[in-house]
Amino acid sequence: MSLRVYNTLGKKIEEFKPLSGMKVGFYGCGPTVYNYAHIGNLRAYVFQDILTRTLSFLGYDVTHVMNITDVGHLSGDNDEGEDKMVKSAKERGKSVMQIADYYTKAFFTDTERLNILKPTIVCKATDHIPEMIALIKRLEERGHTYFSEGNLYYDISTFPDYGKMAGFTLDELKAGARVAIDKNKKNPHDFVLWFTQSKFENQALLWDSPWGKGYPGWHIECSAMSMKYLGEQFEIHSGGIDHIRIHHTNEIAQSEGATGKPWVKYWMHNEFLVMNKGKMSKSSGEFITLQAVIDKGFDPIDYRFLLLGGHYRSQLTFSWEAMETAKNARKSLQQRIENLKSGIENLSLIEEKISASDAEKLLRNSPALPYFESFVQALEDDLSTPRAISEMQQLIKDKTISAEDRLKTLSIFDQIFGLNLFEKSESNSNKQESAMDEQSILTLIQERTDAKNAKNYQRADEIRDELRTKGIILEDTPKGTVWKRI
Ligand code: AMP
Ligand code: ZN
Repeated sequence: MSLRVYNTLGKKIEEFKPLSGMKVGFYGCGPTVYNYAHIGNLRAYVFQDILTRTLSFLGYDVTHVMNITDVGHLSGDNDEGEDKMVKSAKERGKSVMQIADYYTKAFFTDTERLNILKPTIVCKATDHIPEMIALIKRLEERGHTYFSEGNLYYDISTFPDYGKMAGFTLDELKAGARVAIDKNKKNPHDFVLWFTQSKFENQALLWDSPWGKGYPGWHIECSAMSMKYLGEQFEIHSGGIDHIRIHHTNEIAQSEGATGKPWVKYWMHNEFLVMNKGKMSKSSGEFITLQAVIDKGFDPIDYRFLLLGGHYRSQLTFSWEAMETAKNARKSLQQRIENLKSGIENLSLIEEKISASDAEKLLRNSPALPYFESFVQALEDDLSTPRAISEMQQLIKDKTISAEDRLKTLSIFDQIFGLNLFEKSESNSNKQESAMDEQSILTLIQERTDAKNAKNYQRADEIRDELRTKGIILEDTPKGTVWKRI
């Protein structure tokens, strides 16, 4: 058995070998908590979850770190525009901290609903300003920075490998410079490490630093926090493909610039979830939250199932029809499992977490073993969840294998899939019923208020209509929105 993964660094499939022993340090870029996550963002976290579950299953001792960005992320990843947190707080008439708390909670509600395991360490940018300052000082000492008009910049010309992972060179960058010219920068692709001259007024959170009172650029948090928790060199870093060109390129320049050593061994990037009309993003109108999926009558796990049916490196087009198909396929799996279960008196499922090698020992004399082996091979082949799912679907139908053996093996598979396959169908419909409890209604009302504040009236109207179909009427009063059941 051996795991192979696609490494964006070398742009090829490589055998996975930790730096030493079986320990794996894994840093996954987390959310910027200025709004709800959309289901495209959530694809990135389902991918992180499948990766950590697979690594643990294969016997690795994984430390999974995820950051929460609550400062410094501007609307454009290249230091353009306004700080996303400040903009959101202004629009909603709240403080930055209130916004961060609210959307951090909403994020973890969503990840829990998707059965995504909590990372080993979740760290907030605003709790790590001293670590960021210390790292910037190291960069300064090694000659990678310059100060201009109140901001401290990273000078990319001091890092010859800049752009290597993204596949461009410094010369190519110069030739094709398309970014807006910022007169304070020596090179248009230099980026801010520390802002003291805010480009906009009322930056809410400011910290003292050797360069003056200010706040950090976005990229430095990931270098500082990953190295704090995982050391100066670690195994895996992940994020969506949109991060390769700027965010991760800058993270590498910072971390390797400061230590003088290679930083991350494997870079793994998930492809996008797209709509028919193109990329799903918070700035375009195509913004679907998990709550909206639930309100259409789906279980969040139907969405997880939809995602697992595609390979993480392939683009996936979202549609409500695809959701219907995923829902029906999952229901039918559950029904088949119910049918297999009936008539078995002492059902022995594998409920405790099991490793692949123990599972193999357990199944050694079982006719289900070839399915298990193919399932493991699929995962080891750069996490091919579509193939692993297909193994499950074939196993479940294979009448040459006893119901007990099939169920036992499926219960092992579901430790990776996290599809709650052994939950009774009724409990799922109960979950949907309770989706319209008071908390869900209040969450939707808040989402509608946010949509209105962001002038996204289409989404606001959609929410009102969705609630109406569930017998909830909204009334906007000077004191806010009130609701009643009809
Ligand atoms: P953000 O909160 O914007 O920093 O994004 C959180 C994560 O979602 C990042 O890893 C992004 O690369 C990823 N992401 C953003 N949009 C999509 C999408 N449409 N499909 C898949 N991943 C996405
Ligand atoms: Zn990051």
